[in-house]
Amino acid sequence: MEVMERTKEMQEQTDAAAQKIFGRTLTEAHAKSICVDCATPVNEDSFKDEISKVEYGMSGFCQVCQDRVFAEPEPEDVSVNAPAA
Ligand SMILES: [Zn+2]
Repeated sequence: MEVMERTKEMQEQTDAAAQKIFGRTLTEAHAKSICVDCATPVNEDSFKDEISKVEYGMSGFCQVCQDRVFAEPEPEDVSVNAPAA
């Protein structure tokens, strides 16, 4: 799939970081159309919206990893833990 173009400098920086953290580069993940983190194959249908596709172009995360990484921290989960009186 097509991904957003990155400058050479951006590419070198993100590749170095990704290699360190994930054991593969963002360039490699994009080339193989896999998630840079969990290596799940991705395609156009893997993402719920355009924003998520663009995010894949920048970070290389699949939808699942995006949801995990960018999930809003819940301040207090009162409703779930409330006693069922
Ligand atoms: Zn993933």
